[in-house]
Order: sequence, then C-alpha cells, then structure tokens
Amino acid sequence: MKHCFLIDMDGVLYHGDAVLEGATRFVSRIPPPRRLFVTNNPIRSPENVAHKLSQMGFADIDETQVLTSAEATANWLLRQKPGFRYFAVGAEGLHEALRKHGAEDSEAADFVVVGEGPGIDFNSLTTAINLIIGRGARLVSTNPDATVDATAGGQHVVVPGGGALVAPFEVATGRKAIVIGKPEPLLYEMAMRRLGASPSDCIMIGDRPDTDILGAQRLGMRTALVRTGRFAPGELLPDGVRDPDWDAGSLSELETLLTNSI
Ligand SMILES: [Mg+2]
Repeated sequence: MKHCFLIDMDGVLYHGDAVLEGATRFVSRIPPPRRLFVTNNPIRSPENVAHKLSQMGFADIDETQVLTSAEATANWLLRQKPGFRYFAVGAEGLHEALRKHGAEDSEAADFVVVGEGPGIDFNSLTTAINLIIGRGARLVSTNPDATVDATAGGQHVVVPGGGALVAPFEVATGRKAIVIGKPEPLLYEMAMRRLGASPSDCIMIGDRPDTDILGAQRLGMRTALVRTGRFAPGELLPDGVRDPDWDAGSLSELETLLTNSI
C-alpha cells in the first residue's frame, strides 16, 4: 500500500484565516483517497471545515476528508452502544455530530460528553454530575488540550481547551473522562479505519509534539513535525516525545524532505 497522510490543520495549513506558505501545493500533491485532515477541534462540523479549506484555495476537498474530534466521539459512542443516549456540553459542531447517531436525554443519558467551546455553565455542570454520580453515565471528553489559540476582534487570544473544560466535571464527580482526541489513540484509530490503513502506512503531519506527534508515535506511525504553529524552529522537544521522522520549518521544506526519502 502507498503512504497515507494524516494532516493536522491549524498551525500546519493555516493560522486563523491565513494560509501558510506551501500548504495548498503540498496538499494538491496527495491524492484525496490517501489524505485525511484530522483535528482535535470539535467546534466546526466536517462540512464547515471542508468549506473553509475550499475557500482558502485547497482543491478537491470534501467533508469525507475531514475527521473532527466531535465526529470521532460520536462514532466511538456508537461502537460502544448503538442508539446511545447522551447529554452534551459544548459547541454546535459537537451537538450536530452526536445527533446523527444518538438521542439527547438529560434525564437518562448513558454518556455525558464535554467538548471544547462555549456551553458550560452552572446548570449544565449540575445536570451532568447528577447523571454521572446518580445514574452511572460515563464521562467523555472530545480532546485534552489545556488551551487553544483563537482570534477575537482581529486579536490573538488564548481560550480554554477541551481539557480545561472537562476538569470541573472530573473534580465534581471524582471520575476521569475517556478522552477521544490526540494524543489518545481513538481519533487516530478512527482515521486509519476511514483510510483503510494500518499505522505503518501512515505519516502524521502536525505542529504539536505533545499531541500530534506523541499520539502518532505511540501507535507506530511515522511522523513529520512542521514548525509553523505552536512549536518554533530550534525549540527542543518536550520530554517523552522521540524525534519525529521528519522535522521541517515549513510544508515546502517538508515536501523536499519527503520527496528525497519516501
Ligand atoms: Mg495544530
């Protein structure tokens, strides 16, 4: 089998609404059946993400090439319990993904799902902890990021990520959440099923050593770090992350490195 590429987006293909150098050309060189755009961000739907990529100038994009942590969460719940009932706290992209496979039920949910983005408040936390403590619902988190980068009024801001938002539910119940997104394996396993690929077929391209690269290494994928996002050129890798197979300053540079080595 030929190589498949799992590609993180924010910090690899774009920052906010700005496309990064070499990104559209790099993506155009990979046939659509051998690429999947994967993101820990559950806020936008795959259709919405595909539309954004197309608007930015990426060619031949559709929603089947996009896997979000919300979609992966909904699929994982379906595999655990077909017809599952859920109570969700998070943005519209999460609710949309869950509605496709399950039924919302704030009184007898099997799962409490906490996602990144707006949604948490005193009432939703109260409902959730009573479902978990009182009815044995399992706590599930879309992604473990402590913080994420965002833009507000044209300014860069740091906002709480999925890990920060699920923390109050864990503290209140004393239960640890099942985490779907990177660096945990479930999102990547779903990505491989979608591509019909095994870890040795896959090359993961990401900008974060602690999530993108670490999660892929744990599963035995090859990895490419692109230092255009959270992680600057020259910065040392955090403890516990091995050197990636490719380490590039940009996607243009990665294209050259890959052309010479695979
Ligand atoms: Mg990223």
